[in-house]
Amino acid sequence: MSPGTALITGASTGIGAIYADRLARRGRDLVLVARDVTRLEALAARLRSETGARVDVLPADLSDRSQLAKVEARIASDETLTLLVNNAGISLEGTLIDTPAVTIEHLIAINVTAPTLLAGAAVRAFAARGAGGIINLSSVLALAPEMFDGTYSATKAFILNLTQGLAKEVADKGIRVQAVLPGATRTEIWARSGKDIDSFPAEWVMDASDLVDAALLGFDRGETVTIPPLADEAKWHAIQEARLAMASELSRRDVAPRYRVSAESAAV
Ligand code: NAP
Repeated sequence: MSPGTALITGASTGIGAIYADRLARRGRDLVLVARDVTRLEALAARLRSETGARVDVLPADLSDRSQLAKVEARIASDETLTLLVNNAGISLEGTLIDTPAVTIEHLIAINVTAPTLLAGAAVRAFAARGAGGIINLSSVLALAPEMFDGTYSATKAFILNLTQGLAKEVADKGIRVQAVLPGATRTEIWARSGKDIDSFPAEWVMDASDLVDAALLGFDRGETVTIPPLADEAKWHAIQEARLAMASELSRRDVAPRYRVSAESAAV
């Protein structure tokens, strides 16, 4: 039986283009979304001829709400669609202190608004069909915002949080949700945001093919969170256990003793 169609955002290059290649080789048909039609058509032609997959190109600027709506409509109406790869993303050339508001809004539109609305369209469609999967590209920076620009990192923390919440919400609807947390990966995102990937030690930088192959292995294993560069998986599980152990103490009528205003300080 065919595994169905995958819609991949940001498929014109980098991690998204590798997902397109790997998913076509796994027998999926594809819908490729990005702005650069020439690149999308070239990839689609190659994958059609190499794999026999049916590959549609759906050009869209995901920062534009009417073009985003076109992608949401495709997710809602395409009965063959069983997988959404929410991959498109951008980084910032600067930090919050020196970046114009319009640029920050653009970052949030692509990295937060678009994947959230597309995931919403996908869970509604997949819940009605009783099956489906969503892969969301987050980043290791969701766990380590101090290592990079905090605004980009915050968009990726949003995606991690969204995925973990959503995974629990839709588990009983036959829908699998995964967040992928890459470390530095060799793609155009670095040059596009004015950074030189070669300024990092070579052993810090993963190839996009290795990243996607590992992430798909994690998806096959049913992982909600996949961190391809992290060798010691126990470190991730320890954070999760500590977080969940704290959860039962996070909502209380009484403020914690250390915040109680003592009679002494109230009199000052
Ligand atoms: P990339 O090589 O720069 O590719 C980004 C993709 O997103 C391109 O296909 C681009 O296509 C598309 N895109 C950008 N703006 C768009 C827009 N307004 N509308 C539609 N599509 C748009 O980046 P990448 O490294 O592969 O990144 C993929 C994902 O992985 C991102 O979410 C990124 O945050 C995440 N990630 C990357 C790294 C890394 O080190 N590379 C690390 C952690 C997480 P067009 O230009 O044709 O529109």
